[in-house]
Amino acid sequence: MRHLKLDTDAQGVALLTIDVADRPMNVLMPEVEAELAEAVARVRADAGIRGLIIVSGKANGFIAGADLKEFVEAYERKTTQAQGAERSRQFQRLFRSLETCGKPVAIAMNGLALGGGLELCLAGHYRVLSDNPKAVVGLPECGIGLLPGAGGTQRLPRLIGVENALPMMLSGRHVKPAEALKLGIVHELATPGEEVAVARRWIDSQPDPRQPWDKPGFRVEPASVFIAETRASTLRETHGNYPAPLAILGCVAEGVPLPIDDGLEVEARYFGQLLAGPVARNLIRTTFINRGLADKLARRPKGIDKAPAQKLAVLGAGTMGGGIAFAAAQAGIPVVLLDSSGDLAERAKAAISVRLAQDVAKGRLAQDKADALLARITPTADYALLADCDFAIEAVFEDAAIKAQVIARAEAALPATAVFASNTSALPIGGLARTSLRPGQFVGMHFFSPVERMVLVEIIAGQETRPETLARTFDLAGQLKKTPILVNDGPGFYSTRVVNAYINEGLDLLTEGVAPALIEDAARQAGMPVGPLALADEVGLDLGLKIARQVDTLEAGRSRAVATLDQMVRQGRRVGRKSGTGFYDYPEGGAKRLWPGLAALYPPAAEQPGVEEIKQRLLYAQALEAARCVEDGVVTHMPDGDLGSLLGWGFPSYTGGTLSLIDTLGIANFVEACERLAARHGVHFAPSAWLKEKAGRGENFYPPVV
Ligand code: NAD
Repeated sequence: MRHLKLDTDAQGVALLTIDVADRPMNVLMPEVEAELAEAVARVRADAGIRGLIIVSGKANGFIAGADLKEFVEAYERKTTQAQGAERSRQFQRLFRSLETCGKPVAIAMNGLALGGGLELCLAGHYRVLSDNPKAVVGLPECGIGLLPGAGGTQRLPRLIGVENALPMMLSGRHVKPAEALKLGIVHELATPGEEVAVARRWIDSQPDPRQPWDKPGFRVEPASVFIAETRASTLRETHGNYPAPLAILGCVAEGVPLPIDDGLEVEARYFGQLLAGPVARNLIRTTFINRGLADKLARRPKGIDKAPAQKLAVLGAGTMGGGIAFAAAQAGIPVVLLDSSGDLAERAKAAISVRLAQDVAKGRLAQDKADALLARITPTADYALLADCDFAIEAVFEDAAIKAQVIARAEAALPATAVFASNTSALPIGGLARTSLRPGQFVGMHFFSPVERMVLVEIIAGQETRPETLARTFDLAGQLKKTPILVNDGPGFYSTRVVNAYINEGLDLLTEGVAPALIEDAARQAGMPVGPLALADEVGLDLGLKIARQVDTLEAGRSRAVATLDQMVRQGRRVGRKSGTGFYDYPEGGAKRLWPGLAALYPPAAEQPGVEEIKQRLLYAQALEAARCVEDGVVTHMPDGDLGSLLGWGFPSYTGGTLSLIDTLGIANFVEACERLAARHGVHFAPSAWLKEKAGRGENFYPPVV
């Protein structure tokens, strides 16, 4: 056996060590399962073995789960529901054979046991968990669009009750040792290193080698009211966009009252449905695989030495500048925070100080850490202080002339080798770089608001940006713990362009007489975190108007949206959320409310469209704009487009992102739907010849799995 080792001692206790070859952590995959089946058969058949202890050969934990590669490819390989169910049954048969092998089985868990790893443990008769700070157990499958299909949905509720098991499976949360013991997921905690000895003591006590559910009279407390309430709240939260939580509810409701083998069959059927559908593929690919690659800076130009920023200049101490300075100071980087007056810069630092004081008061931050962080920020209006900064980020007003002035003054003070990044929302980097003395060192670094919470940063390569500059920008993104995507230049680059398409579609609906509450609600039902009108307020209507004017030159028939924003701004509804007036009112201390004045400006039509139609328009407008970004060469790497949409503005993760949404439908179907929309709602929905040709060739955005 390549991954497993079975040793039996003189007293007849077998020790099965799992150490999956060529992997940093133990994962379940067909080869490992086959060896496990062989080992179980030997334990069952060998009369000299009176008990089994299963351990991990890796110091970093027990088993991290199943290998996700298989599951992400299942959809691409057109796995049917029946094949998916059969895959679940393979796991189930293996674990069932373990718990019915006739010998007591103890699992000595030295740490982390997640997903299939925990499901294996649940099939043991006795679980001992190491009481170490890194040890966690959990069933996180729901988060990747699947369910614990190796018996987890059946064993966990039978073991700890439906009311404990269901929330754990729906949230996928990690449970630490003390709670795992309290809930009854494990029987005993052990001092790290003592797990096997504790397991051994249990085996020596000559226990009954049967699971509770295999003993006569076993039953689980029915929890039908709890299940019904959980189903209702799940539907409210997910709007039915995510099949996995509903499938888990189904497994528990239908399977747990049955004998275990019948319950497992219910689970297998639901698992098959999920594996054959696109949501699991979308969630695993984008939120797990692509995200992981981006975090490892896979798109950083190769062959260039790492060069972390030593001292950062942040120019403009407003919303974004303050946030960037804070993030940098948090990462240990000294920051010069410059504004047009010393007062304004001081004020930004004072705001950071207030936030830190709140964190200290709540016990989230130690006073000395807060002091050190604050001491890293030097507020100023004096450009001479930039003399030793090796990286500068500009975040002044969105105005090309002002930016040009700031670039010139900063470059005169910065060292000749410094990188200069602009946080502009939409001004092309090439245009700004023309005002720079060193266009090769000029780059776009687009953060999202609020900077401390939003993990995405969009790096924009101008035509002249050198690979070394990009590499250093990636390094800074890494220092700031942001997830970078890399796109090419153009008005609005990628994210602003697509967000603009979303807001514009919302404004179109409004001017057509669709009730604003219906627009906002449909957007949330589609899975967007905020409606397009609320998002326009977040951006600020005056900034939105500038952006729309900048970006709309790309699109035909878009002047209507510009006109709407213009009209709102002229009504004095300027700065959205910041000023308390936009499409919404923001009463002090109260929840935001749609501005009643909207009804007079945009009277609702007598007949309102259906929710599905609005949802489709709002999502497809974004997806189509993302496709145009690929066509224009702004997005060259599909994961950048998908991840950017998910992390940048919360495009719903069940779709996998803007481009995966199209792939999931198939480009030909998407093109057809857009043509129908174009006929009814305007040429901005017209798919390009390029996209139609791509559809004609039967292509996808992502290459097919071979
Ligand atoms: P803001 O108005 O809050 O801050 C701009 C700051 O720049 C102000 O403090 C202002 O005093 C300062 N400033 C203006 N002219 C200056 C000069 N000549 N020299 C020095 N400082 C000067 O604006 P913001 O929302 O922080 O946006 C800043 C930039 O970031 C803009 O380009 C904007 O498009 C972009 N951006 C904004 C967001 C967002 O959500 N707010 C998101 C991404 C990018």
